Amino acid sequence: MGSDCLFCRIVAGEIPATVVRETPTTLAFRDISPQAPVHVLVIPKEHYADVATLAQGDPALAGEVLATATAVAEDEGLLGDGFRLMFNTGAYAGQEVFHVHAHLLGGAPLGPMLARNLA
Ligand code: 5GP
Ligand code: ZN
Repeated sequence: MGSDCLFCRIVAGEIPATVVRETPTTLAFRDISPQAPVHVLVIPKEHYADVATLAQGDPALAGEVLATATAVAEDEGLLGDGFRLMFNTGAYAGQEVFHVHAHLLGGAPLGPMLARNLA
């Protein structure tokens, strides 16, 4: 992947980002267009298109993404009041960047899980 992928370019340092945590295999940085007081994206450094591909291809790395997200939630003071961790996956979820990323959202009541009830 690499040069064609926005988040691979952030991992490579070619595009700036506000990094809040880095491990040997994961990176967490603030979303450029935050939807909540805390909005951090957590990614594996290795390119996987979405969470399904990641979980099937390297479940241990998927766990490392969750561990990094939890560490950021703790750093940001979210463990007490709670937070939302979300992976948009594919067309129905409106995924726009095809390098898997967890959205870590918190810092205020987040409202209903979906904007509309689709059931
Ligand atoms: P998706 O819709 O794929 O789940 O989410 C993509 C997210 O990436 C969006 O929340 C968007 O604001 C964020 N984003 C897009 N481009 C950039 C960028 O260049 N830097 C950062 N930090 N976030 C970005
Ligand atoms: Zn990538």
